[in-house]
Amino acid sequence: MAERILIVEDEENIARVLQLELEFEGYEAGVAHAGDEGLIKFREGGWDLVLLDLMLPGLSGLDVLRRIRASDTAVPVILLTAKNEVEDKVAGLDLGANDYVTKPFEIDELLARIRATLRLAKALSGAKVATPEHIHSFAGLTMNEETRDVTRDGRSIDLTPREYDLLLYFLKHPNRVFEREQLLDAVWGFDYYGDTNVVDVYVRYVRKKIGDGLIHTVRGVGYVLKESPK
Ligand code: CA
Repeated sequence: MAERILIVEDEENIARVLQLELEFEGYEAGVAHAGDEGLIKFREGGWDLVLLDLMLPGLSGLDVLRRIRASDTAVPVILLTAKNEVEDKVAGLDLGANDYVTKPFEIDELLARIRATLRLAKALSGAKVATPEHIHSFAGLTMNEETRDVTRDGRSIDLTPREYDLLLYFLKHPNRVFEREQLLDAVWGFDYYGDTNVVDVYVRYVRKKIGDGLIHTVRGVGYVLKESPK
């Protein structure tokens, strides 16, 4: 299967050339032209490597990198930097970027670095343990079923047992719309005696604790856990 490379670069000409060159080399290439768009694309998953420009509209390249590394320490990231971005380059490497190229770059050099970085990542992944089954992550939200730790963007969140069960159910089924009855059955149990208002109440509690933009109301239907477009 073709290796998948995500290009996050706001200069459309550069992004386009990179995409064409990568596809010519047999990679599958995706493109985002802003930092927040890049992060959303990244979180769709399945990327083998990220080419990340530092100066981006929306989130900066360093912000994108920080958020990528908060949930994924393994995916290789190569920074695309300008000559005058030395400090950012150093910060990027400190944040866990694997390599960088300075613009304007020779495409052959970049391709060589991509090959080397992918080779190294592959060699390491043989030794690395995959994300354990008891850890669930989505859009910066992470729940550990063994320790019952809940965090969003690294910030720890305290939930009551019922709130925890509700959020865990959403997290195990991201992007799926649930009716209140379904949530009631799944979280409170089939024999729960009461009405579905309790779902609304608990969704409100959970939202308050985890912050906005994750559990959305689907009017006339119910709720869904998904990443909101910025
Ligand atoms: Ca740029």
